[in-house]
Amino acid sequence: MNGECYFCHGIVSAPEEDHIWLTEHDSHEVYMHEQCASGHNVIEREQDSTGELLITCPECGEVETV
Ligand SMILES: [Zn+2]
Ligand SMILES: [Zn+2]
Repeated sequence: MNGECYFCHGIVSAPEEDHIWLTEHDSHEVYMHEQCASGHNVIEREQDSTGELLITCPECGEVETV
């Protein structure tokens, strides 16, 4: 499965580690490269031990944990 990066319109592939998929949103699916997301300040890495990524959906503004 492939999607199009929200920012650069390049290919985003599901299994790639630095490719981000937001698919559980009501009316839209958003795909992006981690690099593009960080360039647009929609991504933040937790500073605690989990090191989880917090993604702000550029469509609806909801924050997702990846
Ligand atoms: Zn991109
Ligand atoms: Zn959304």
